[in-house]
Amino acid sequence: MRLDRRDFLQILGLACASGMELKSDAIAAQKFADALYEIPTFGNVHFLHLTDSHAQLQPVHYREPSVNLGFGLERGKPPHLVGEQLLNFYGFKPGSREAYAFSSLNFSSAARHYGRVGGFAHLYTLIKQLRSSRPGALLLDGGDTWQGSATALWSNAQDMVDAALLLGVDVMTAHWEMTLGEHRLNEIIDNDFKNKVSFVAQNIKTSDFGDPVFEPFALKSMNGVQVAVIGQAFPYTPIAHPAHFVPNWTFGIQEENLQITIQQARAKGASVVVLLSHNGMDVDLKLASRVTGLDAILGGHTHDGIPKPVLVSNPAGKTLVTNAGSNGKFLGVLDFQVKYGRVQDFQYKLLPVFSNLITPDPDMSALIQRHRQPFEAKLSEPLAFTDDLLYRRGTFNGTFDQLILNGLMQMRDAEIALSPGFRWGTTLLSQQPITFEELLNQTAITYPATTLNELSGKGIKDILEDVADNLFNPDPYYQQGGDMVRVGGLEYTIDPTQTVGKRVSNLTLKGQSLDPDKKYKVAGWASVSADENVRAGQPIWDLMSEYLRDLKVVKPMKLNSPILKR
Ligand SMILES: [Zn+2]
Repeated sequence: MRLDRRDFLQILGLACASGMELKSDAIAAQKFADALYEIPTFGNVHFLHLTDSHAQLQPVHYREPSVNLGFGLERGKPPHLVGEQLLNFYGFKPGSREAYAFSSLNFSSAARHYGRVGGFAHLYTLIKQLRSSRPGALLLDGGDTWQGSATALWSNAQDMVDAALLLGVDVMTAHWEMTLGEHRLNEIIDNDFKNKVSFVAQNIKTSDFGDPVFEPFALKSMNGVQVAVIGQAFPYTPIAHPAHFVPNWTFGIQEENLQITIQQARAKGASVVVLLSHNGMDVDLKLASRVTGLDAILGGHTHDGIPKPVLVSNPAGKTLVTNAGSNGKFLGVLDFQVKYGRVQDFQYKLLPVFSNLITPDPDMSALIQRHRQPFEAKLSEPLAFTDDLLYRRGTFNGTFDQLILNGLMQMRDAEIALSPGFRWGTTLLSQQPITFEELLNQTAITYPATTLNELSGKGIKDILEDVADNLFNPDPYYQQGGDMVRVGGLEYTIDPTQTVGKRVSNLTLKGQSLDPDKKYKVAGWASVSADENVRAGQPIWDLMSEYLRDLKVVKPMKLNSPILKR
């Protein structure tokens, strides 16, 4: 192609214009970052809250759910708002950075425009900046920090422990940490964390005598004010995961013990008492209405990015309830004004961590690089290419889960597949290679064995009913906080408002009704069985690697989701 002078000037003109645009974009982004991250100092007691990072040390994409069903009292309220409803409720503009951070609207184009979120090197810069304006601020880690990535699995969580120490975590509670086993947990707490990080859990006791296993709370002095942080670990650990990881400990919500612990903390002089919770938000909302004396519940587990705290009334006052999202995408900042021994006022911000607006901290970058280096070749191995957006969150299914279901059915020659409704797992934009690291971001657990079972039609229905009750029980204390088990091959109808045993109906396989007495071949993974033979099954990442290498390109998939009746 030959260009004449006019064409040339035109191209030059376009280049200049886009250059100017880029420059003004950069200035606007800087202005936005300043307004977002330089929060005026407020009060004299400060908490920085990080939760459910699921071992994502590097910036990621993470798509919030487009379906998050809540029923009864929970219907239409946070955390069960998604999409436009959520934007309207919190006053966010469509297309804005906030809309990108808190919702799944136009996710792919917004992600390409606004970039990745999180990353511990970025978080560390932000935390240091907030600490400089908030002397004495405590950094609280709500758990699900040591699990969710290849490097955390392969280093037995050492990468995350080292990152938490550099970040300066003051107090921590736990959930998936327990799947490393009692021994490894104690090893970290007694050595790495000694005199540095307080590991707290009021609801974990020894199964023999019911003695507390950990300190129930940490008492700290901040700017002349005594503050207590009580720990609440995930209550359903031995049910939701293999019980053999924690054979000597019991869990549960332990509401009465919590009330006693709050009184003990107050008796020791605490003017501020907060609960660092891994209950999940619906459980926390109920707990806040029944327990007295908590100023705030800083919650996690359900991965809800809630921009404003919910103020819950109880018989003796009010408690703020928050939930700070997941995957390093958000940092909660709670400031209290404390006078005359009690909280007078508060300020709360849930800061989205936009990676391209924050300079990564060089020390944390070096730490992350040091931990990745031995594994780099394996991590970057490409397995397939994806033409589809791959995500996990959603009440009933996500595209990455559909891919896993398809892999399980094909590789195990099964008619039906089941995959757990995990809420962790990052998002992969289309037109990208799926690396081994991306696969491990969806599958890195300590009980990865795949299974193949012959189950009766009735047995399959019972499993679906059981999980649906953990998810849709009208009493939040019976909800375990995951999403619905993902189902491949099988079609069904679900009515979440029904009672246990009556929610699931019309089960069909290839157009035929499921026969309650007939046996079907069902593939799965992440079994909670203690049986050695089950645990020796092929790990899910090996099965999926083979499947993906063979598949080569992931084409857009049809999601296997139930018909919803309400
Ligand atoms: Zn959790």
